[in-house]
Amino acid sequence: MRVLVTGGAGYIGSVVGAQLVAAGHDVVVLDDLSTGHADAVPPGATFVQGTLRDCAAEVLSDGIEAVLHFAAKSLVGESVADPAKYWSTNLGGTVALLEAMRELRVRTIVFSSTAAVYGEPEGPVVRETDLTRPTSPYGASKLAVDTTLTEFSRLYGFGAVSLRYFNVAGAHSVSGSGGSGGSGGSGGSGGRWLGERHHPETHLIPNVLAAASQGRSLQVFGDDYPTPDGTCIRDYIHVTDLADAHLRALAACRPGEHRIYNLGNGAGFSVREVIEVCREVTGTDIAVETGPRRAGDPAVLVASSAKIQSELGWRATRDLRAMAADAWAFTQARSSR
Ligand code: UDP
Repeated sequence: MRVLVTGGAGYIGSVVGAQLVAAGHDVVVLDDLSTGHADAVPPGATFVQGTLRDCAAEVLSDGIEAVLHFAAKSLVGESVADPAKYWSTNLGGTVALLEAMRELRVRTIVFSSTAAVYGEPEGPVVRETDLTRPTSPYGASKLAVDTTLTEFSRLYGFGAVSLRYFNVAGAHSVSGSGGSGGSGGSGGSGGRWLGERHHPETHLIPNVLAAASQGRSLQVFGDDYPTPDGTCIRDYIHVTDLADAHLRALAACRPGEHRIYNLGNGAGFSVREVIEVCREVTGTDIAVETGPRRAGDPAVLVASSAKIQSELGWRATRDLRAMAADAWAFTQARSSR
């Protein structure tokens, strides 16, 4: 199938693009490189640099049959400081894309949504039926897109799937093995790694690994939460497992239906547990400083992935050690260049 991957030069979009190429799809990447990296565009994909508003219609008109939509701004803190940027890029950009799709009769879309649509969770495990009360313009803008997709499927017969990610981590080896697989952390078969390269980097695992490789300390944002060790608990999912879910979602799109699935492991790890696994994987005694809580961080955020497991047959196959090992392999591959 000829598919468009918007945001395919970013962390998750590039890994999904690589998996689509590996599965035999004809992949076109559209990315404005505002936060993505041209060298992350998967080998074998066609790359177009531009925005959704300026370029979506032209790219779609060249035989595209389905869209996987990742292009978005994704920093919670930035969204609080500059909400208009998030409404304009995340919602406005998506509406431009959907309008172009409607006009050109491309009606299949898989959307990169987020756990941030739920806000402060109602219970220990978040289900798709839980209330959506986002606590940031980022989460609100993603929820608005989910709502728009429900409308486009009802009004125009779009077949859509939204995947609400919890904490995505790890790196993907393009050489074919898809990273370590299982719990081994072998680091793939020596090919090219696609991983997380955000500026600034806010995510825990890349920050812990950067602290390890640069010999500096890691700031832990609060250890007075109501959790067993006082640090926040999150549900981490390997980016290769996440990409697999996108291919299943693409195959599951049905005209007139908008499906929503949570994507996580169904189990959580505390910040301290993550640091411990990173210490083991890197063989480094990573120094830790405890600072104040980061605004807006809920104590526990864990997904129920029961729905996607039962409906699409997806399950996570790579554990936290594999995520840390593959992210570490990516970090080392970059620092040796
Ligand atoms: N965190 C931390 N130090 C860091 C980055 C993150 O203590 O340098 C904590 C953060 O407060 C949260 C958890 O790690 O409790 C996961 O944060 P991340 O930004 O990776 O993901 P989020 O859950 O916010 O999407």
